[in-house]
Amino acid sequence: MVELTSEQRDIKQAAREFAEKEFKEIARELDEKEQFDDRLWKKAAELGFLGVFIEEEYGGAGLGHFEQCLIIEEFARIDGGIAQCMVASYFGTQLIKLFGTEEQKQKYLPPVCAGQWRTGMASSEPDAGSDVASIATTAIKDGDGYVISGNKMFITNANIADFLIVLCITDPQNPRKHGRLSTIIVETNRPGYEANKLHGKLSIRCSDTGEVAFKQVRVPKENLVGKEGKGFYQLMDFFNRARLDGGGALAIGTAQGALEKAISHVKKRKAFGNQLAGFQIVQAKIAEMATLLEAGRSLLYRAAIKLDKGEVDPALIAMAKWYTCEIAVKVADEAIQLHGGYGILKEYDVEHYWRDAKVFEIFEGTKEIEKILIARQLLGRY
Ligand SMILES: Cc1cc2nc3c(=O)[nH]c(=O)nc-3n(C[C@H](O)[C@H](O)[C@H](O)COP(=O)(O)OP(=O)(O)OC[C@H]3O[C@@H](n4cnc5c(N)ncnc54)[C@H](O)[C@@H]3O)c2cc1C
Repeated sequence: MVELTSEQRDIKQAAREFAEKEFKEIARELDEKEQFDDRLWKKAAELGFLGVFIEEEYGGAGLGHFEQCLIIEEFARIDGGIAQCMVASYFGTQLIKLFGTEEQKQKYLPPVCAGQWRTGMASSEPDAGSDVASIATTAIKDGDGYVISGNKMFITNANIADFLIVLCITDPQNPRKHGRLSTIIVETNRPGYEANKLHGKLSIRCSDTGEVAFKQVRVPKENLVGKEGKGFYQLMDFFNRARLDGGGALAIGTAQGALEKAISHVKKRKAFGNQLAGFQIVQAKIAEMATLLEAGRSLLYRAAIKLDKGEVDPALIAMAKWYTCEIAVKVADEAIQLHGGYGILKEYDVEHYWRDAKVFEIFEGTKEIEKILIARQLLGRY
């Protein structure tokens, strides 16, 4: 297991205390109402929990993606939906940090770290999710800027973000599909931006998810992030960061929370005259859950620490994303099972771990796509 520094232990402890104090009471209500409470986001920003990997000169803490993972893990231990709202508040800043101009970094990063602006990243479309390079949204050059037209689907923060970073086709004639794309910042108050909230989600219900229509939205050319035609590759670099806190850490926190609920329940509940915890088959389940969790956590921490050292290892990151999310579903499933009938009752506060974990296997790259990425690196590209 990774030995944390005293600073990292303090960060983790502070995140745990914040989540326990602020999330517990309100989480089920937010889930039911499909609504977030912005006061939590503002407080988290005030305490310096958001975008800690952003350099201090742009409002962040100048720490690593590993520290961000420690924070998000603690948040998800209490509630995956609230944790996702926190991750989503800075989702996309990684692209600006990596590829943005000095002006973009100064303009967009400090208000996000300060909890004044929220971001989003819009790649998925109704007919192109996993197959990113097949998107159809266009950004046509027009005078000093671009005119954006198209539709995006499943966009986190679609209705509440101040700006989105949007994947668009800027070079439709390029014979190479992957060379047609660019990433462009779109402020959501621009004329022609329309969003529609998706209701009735299984998972992360308090997090805003929406459909977006860009109806000839005009943006200045300064809103281009990085280089024209490099959007696909920039997005892959982005995912190599965002999959850690926005996938793996959400999953590990969720599995940890579910395991703790299961342990507490089997120590209290009796059957056949004994505590459930006294039965060997129950002990074996707890042991398996803890082992899966520990293996997932080790993989996640290793991937994040390596990334922070400047070694981007896409296969290791994909392994961490796939594995942590899959074990979160398994651990949460067993936690419900160990609760028996009580496991499906909201008041027992365990079923949401499974519901939330399920979407972690889907967004930021499905587990099938993660396996393709791993195999590609091992086998070479065909
Ligand atoms: C709550 C939520 C929030 C989201 N937030 C965002 C966001 O902020 N921004 C954004 O851009 N997107 C977002 N997404 C979209 C998400 O990234 C996509 O749902 C995901 O990438 C899968 O795309 P899809 O839904 O179109 O499924 P598809 O791509 O149609 O895939 C369907 C199934 O087929 C499998 N599959 C696809 N291709 C292959 C293949 N080659 N080999 C084997 N299996 C394959 C997939 O793994 C999956 O199991 C969000 C989704 C959800 C549910």
